[in-house]
This record gives sequence, C-alpha cells and structure tokens, in this order.
Amino acid sequence: MQRKSAGKGKTLPAHSPGAFFSTHPSRADTFTESVIREMTRLALNHNAINLAQGFPDFPCPMELKAAACEAVKDDINQYAITWGAKDLREALAKRVKKFNGMDFNPETEITVTCGSTEAMMASMLAIIQPGDEVVVPEPFYENYGPDAQISGAAPRFVPLADDFSIDEEAWKAAFTKKTRAIIINTPNNPTGKVFTKKELSFIADLCIDHNTVAITDEIYEHIVYDGHKHISIGSLPGMEDRTITIGSFSKTYSVTGWRVGYALADTALTDRIRKIHDFLTVGAPAPLQRACVAALELPESYYKGLAVEYDRKRQILYKGLKKVGFACDLPEGAYYIFTDISSFGMSDTAFARHLVETAGVAAVPGSSFYHTGGETKLRFTFSKKDETLIEACRRLETIDGSRA
Ligand code: PLP
Repeated sequence: MQRKSAGKGKTLPAHSPGAFFSTHPSRADTFTESVIREMTRLALNHNAINLAQGFPDFPCPMELKAAACEAVKDDINQYAITWGAKDLREALAKRVKKFNGMDFNPETEITVTCGSTEAMMASMLAIIQPGDEVVVPEPFYENYGPDAQISGAAPRFVPLADDFSIDEEAWKAAFTKKTRAIIINTPNNPTGKVFTKKELSFIADLCIDHNTVAITDEIYEHIVYDGHKHISIGSLPGMEDRTITIGSFSKTYSVTGWRVGYALADTALTDRIRKIHDFLTVGAPAPLQRACVAALELPESYYKGLAVEYDRKRQILYKGLKKVGFACDLPEGAYYIFTDISSFGMSDTAFARHLVETAGVAAVPGSSFYHTGGETKLRFTFSKKDETLIEACRRLETIDGSRA
C-alpha cells in the first residue's frame, strides 16, 4: 500500500516510520535515552561488573521477601487505590513524622507512585505549564533533564562549585519571574553532597521570595556518612505548602525493581499530582505496596546498619579508585563516587567504553549529569557486595594508563 502525499511530492510506503517522524517532530526527540541504563546494557554485553547503575547486587531484607510472597498468596493482586493502599499511606505518614519531622495527612497528602521516577514526573506535570522555568542545580541526576523536556519546562541550570558548595549570587540570579520550581536532590546523586540546614534555608528563602515550589528528591535520605544529617527542606518554616517531598523504597530497602515510591505534599499540590499519577500509571504494584508496609516496620537498627554497610563499601571503592589514579573524595551521602579522570587523557565517554571493553568495569560518563560539560568526570556506584567491589578494583588495576 502506498500513501500519496509524503511531503514535497514524494510517495512513501504507508508504514515507513521515517515518513511519520520526518513530518511529526515529537517531544521524545528532545532528549536521548538514559546513558546510565545504556551503560548497563553495554556491561551485560561485555560481561563487565556494573558499577554504572545504582542498584544492589545483594538481597533485600528477608522480612520484605516474606511479606511480598504473603501478599500474593493473600490475593492482594488487584489494583490498589490509585493514590496508594491505605495501610501504606498510614505507615508512611508515621515514618515521615518520626524521621523527617513533617506531618502529612495520609488521606489527602500522600501519593504512592511507581518509584520516585514517576513521583518526579507526575509532580512536574502537575505544576509546570509549558514555558515555566525550573531551576536545576548542576550536576544533576540525569532524569531531571528529560523530566523538564517532557513537562515543557525551561530548565535553568545553576552550577554547584567544585567543592559542591552554593554560589549564592549565581543561585539568586537563576530565579526569575517565570521560575515555577527548583529541583533539589539531597543526599545527592552523583556528587554525594548532603545539603546543610544553612544551605536549605537559603534555598527556602529563595522559594518563598519567588513563590516557587521545591521538588525535593530524598531517595538516599538514610545513606549518609561521617555524622552528616539529612534534612528535608519541607520541614523548614514557610515550606510546608510549597514543597513536594519525593521518596522511594528502592534504595533504602534494596528493592529497585519493585517500583514503589511516593510524593508528599499539601492537599492542593497533592490533588494535582494524584490526577496526573492516575492517568500515568493507575498505581504502584499492589502486593509490593503491602510488602512495603513491612519495610516500614523494620527497627531503627536497620537504618543504622544500612549506613554502616554502605560506609564500608564506600571505603573499599574509594581506596581502589585512588590506587589506580582517580582523583576523588569520599562522598558525604548516597552511594556513588564522582571521580575526576583528567589525568587519564580521555573523554568521559571514550574512557567509560575503554573501561568496559578492556577492564570489564562499567561506570557512567560524567557528561550525563550536566547539560554541558562533565567530560572529565566518571561516576561509579558502590551499591554492590564487598566481593564485587574488590574484584572491580582488581580489574581497574589492569587498565592502560593506570596511575598506580
Ligand atoms: N532519584 C535519584 C536521585 C536516583 O539516583 C534514582 C536512581 O538511581 C532515582 C531517583 C530513581 O528511583 P526509583 O527507583 O525510586 O524510581
């Protein structure tokens, strides 16, 4: 079958995808696929150790596995309420009050989503009108770029200084009349920075002065080191009704494949988030929501243990990277080391490919965390078994150009 008009008088086959795409540009053309997930595929092809994507290669707690199996056996296998199972929302409200010092009504202010990924997308779609500006501190978790494109936001990137501190004048200048939101991520991926109360108060003042919403991704809230404290910007005075706090079970309970996260916000914001969420995904997996209630019942010692475990892993990878010549610091939080690779004389993408192909270790090119720049950086995760990290460090010692 032939289609008559394919533009400029050409006749193209009706099913030629080129014919459609050349005449119908899409918002999907405005960003590339995830570099992090691409590196995972490359790692699989080369049988490499995947220190690119941040997911554990060790099991989640037994209590969670048992609760998930129980939920399926108990026939919790149909749609949950779209904004989340009641028992999970109630357990979340208690946990967030205790740990983050914030009060949320489980009936009107908590939305359970498919991971924090969906929570971020739904939040942006809920509050952004095309053309609105969104402030994005740089470097940033790579999803925020496409999230901005999909929601129609115009991102304004503000750089963190080399020591990841805030240049107050640059941040003030990034806020304009059109600024609708700022995206905060603390503890931060990829830098490991944990924003201090002073820094968050400065950001809160900017939000209040410019009538702006803070969308804060706090997925690594329990993974902090060396006495650093996680603070939720939503707990600061004046931020209660202008903050969307995003969390997830993925990292805290080592269940990245379960796809359960949440957005916490006042009723007006939540009403909008829930509408978008309903039509995006209907809801997160019902049996796993039930199992997440069991996660929230774990004792306080679980969280302390998690940070201690990750601290040890952080030291293993840090020592291994330093030994072969990577320039890096110990991160304050989260589970990544963001290295400088200038001394290896290769660009980030070339060096990442080189590492996979010659050493069998995958990392993420730094440029995927910047809108421009980052070519002298590489990110490694240490969310792996000790033996995986030790083997990865051993392999890194074999790279050409090793500065050992
Ligand atoms: N936010 C940050 C900062 C992340 O690092 C990640 C995963 O690496 C995500 C969100 C995705 O989380 P989820 O599995 O809850 O969608």
